[in-house]
Amino acid sequence: MEDENHVLSRATMPGFDHTNEVETLTQVPNSRVPVPTLERLATYLRLLHDLDQAHIETVSSSEVERQTGINAAQFRKDLSYFGEFGKPGVGYNVPELRQRITRILKIDRPKPVILIGAGNLGSALVGYPGLKEHQFELVAVFDNNYGKIGRPLWNLIIQDIARLKELNSSLKARIAILAVPASAAQDVCERLVDAGIRAILNFAPVLLRVPDGVYVRNVSFIQELAVLSYHLSEEEERERQQNGHHQGALAEPHPTALTTYAAAAEEPEVPAPTEAPIEN
Ligand code: NAD
Repeated sequence: MEDENHVLSRATMPGFDHTNEVETLTQVPNSRVPVPTLERLATYLRLLHDLDQAHIETVSSSEVERQTGINAAQFRKDLSYFGEFGKPGVGYNVPELRQRITRILKIDRPKPVILIGAGNLGSALVGYPGLKEHQFELVAVFDNNYGKIGRPLWNLIIQDIARLKELNSSLKARIAILAVPASAAQDVCERLVDAGIRAILNFAPVLLRVPDGVYVRNVSFIQELAVLSYHLSEEEERERQQNGHHQGALAEPHPTALTTYAAAAEEPEVPAPTEAPIEN
């Protein structure tokens, strides 16, 4: 399925025994569970966490759909990968389902996570309580800036990146969050792999090359905003075309005229003002 693609990306690192092709994984290796299902499980888990906090004991698939936007049938299909859940007509027991999804995602006990880059983004992430609430325990933060090393950041002391391997041999983190500038990301990534890291949440806008067995998830606010912007412009184009049908042919709108068209759409009786085309 088209939307099941582009979820977990993995590129290869020179010097390791594999090709240099970028791969896009739709399945977690050695698992029959598609990555989008795992992503949705994490969404269900967030909802179940909130319901549990509110002492709500049961939830129906239609309520899950209402609260997550994920189709009730899709929810049931996702759960069906893992056996029997819920009772017909009764719904799903919230604490039980929460516990089972937590176990499926293997976050039923705290997982140590390290963070590289104590900058704007890194500092915000260290202060985010949601990590711990979901069993991801930030155990160390590293940087290479001597002005920052040794200083406290929330409850942690910023460590020298030069000590990454040494410190991680006792911390035993397998997951890292990468929040360094793009220019430093590949180098830091290689240090992470050398220090035993096997999963990287990458915020830097670069495609990391990693050896087999190391997984990278790329996070990009900008990419998400670009997708939103695309949807919005399609919507605006549709509205503009509908407006055109109502009011006869209109000249191609200049971007500054968008608000004029939006106002015209709400009040179809009022003719949209025409503007002389702007020559650039
Ligand atoms: P920043 O400059 O405030 O922080 C970067 C930190 O990394 C600094 O403390 C710097 O000293 C440290 N650093 C640099 N080189 C290093 C190295 N080799 N080893 C260890 N530490 C090193 O930047 P920021 O605003 O926090 O952004 C961090 C990264 O996240 C950038 O790549 C940025 O483009 C990216 N970013 C991504 C998103 C997103 O949605 N994915 C959003 C914001 C920022």
